[in-house]
Amino acid sequence: LKGIEDNDLPRILLMGLRRSGKSSIQKVVFHKMAPNETLFLESTNKIVKDDLSSSSFIKFQDDYSEALNRLNTTVIKAHKVNPDIKFEVFIHKVDGLSDDHKIEVQRDIHQRATGDMEDASLESIHLSFYLTSIYDHSIFEAFSKVVQKLIKHLGTLENLLNIFNSNSGIEKSFLFDVCSKIYIATDSSPVDMITYELCCDMLDVVIDVSCIYGLQEDREGSVYDQRSTSIIQLNNSTVLYLKEVNRFIALVAILRENSYEKRGLIDYNFHCLRKALQQVLELDKRNHLNSNDSSAS
Ligand code: GDP
Repeated sequence: LKGIEDNDLPRILLMGLRRSGKSSIQKVVFHKMAPNETLFLESTNKIVKDDLSSSSFIKFQDDYSEALNRLNTTVIKAHKVNPDIKFEVFIHKVDGLSDDHKIEVQRDIHQRATGDMEDASLESIHLSFYLTSIYDHSIFEAFSKVVQKLIKHLGTLENLLNIFNSNSGIEKSFLFDVCSKIYIATDSSPVDMITYELCCDMLDVVIDVSCIYGLQEDREGSVYDQRSTSIIQLNNSTVLYLKEVNRFIALVAILRENSYEKRGLIDYNFHCLRKALQQVLELDKRNHLNSNDSSAS
């Protein structure tokens, strides 16, 4: 959900039925909690007795209609208050479902939810749907897409990455928010989950190694800074390339071993890309602040 309040950056409001997984999503995506640990988020531990995937599956089915009703009333009310709100529907805990079943469930929920909107003569409201689980990267990917809708110069970022890729022999590149592993932009080639997971894993490795070995001289410093960089060569002739863009953002790119032979060119192209990215990101930040100023006045 998006709503700009006075002197505030855009906000994402997470809503859902009790036990639908809101706190877990927050902890896993933003606080690096291991998915299994979310079992203990509640004061009672009785959920531990349950087989996780089967219990969430049954729960999911049970809550289906009630969740749709709540979604319908919430969307209608929120739209009345602020017609600019964007609605993102997470069909969560799908780890218990087969791939076919996931598609079927998404189609059914999509049809019923948009049908409800039509019944209320609110066809103009657009709902986006995502199949998510905290047990794989789907929740990070969904959050990435939600956050990207809040970035004003996304098209420019995408174009810069396209140019960087084609001039450097790179197959795919992501701009990561280092802290959450959400990608805030990528080039315009399609994202496949395996590549995204690989890049997330690389980021984890770099941060973990930096946590252990990176703070020796300056214990107060951040584990991620201007000097953060890494190249990982995999045994399938793929190379992963990570560079710092700014305090919060890193570029992670994936390329073939033979393209990496032109390393000097890639580094030089990155140097130019970094400057351009910093300008665009700065612009985006200023734009948000300006739009808040005008809403406050
Ligand atoms: P909230 O009330 O919406 O904040 O829900 P919680 O975050 O407390 O989650 C309730 C339960 O759902 C916890 O036991 C979580 O471990 C579990 N849960 C959350 N996300 C997932 C998921 O993606 N898959 C499965 N199987 N369980 C999940």
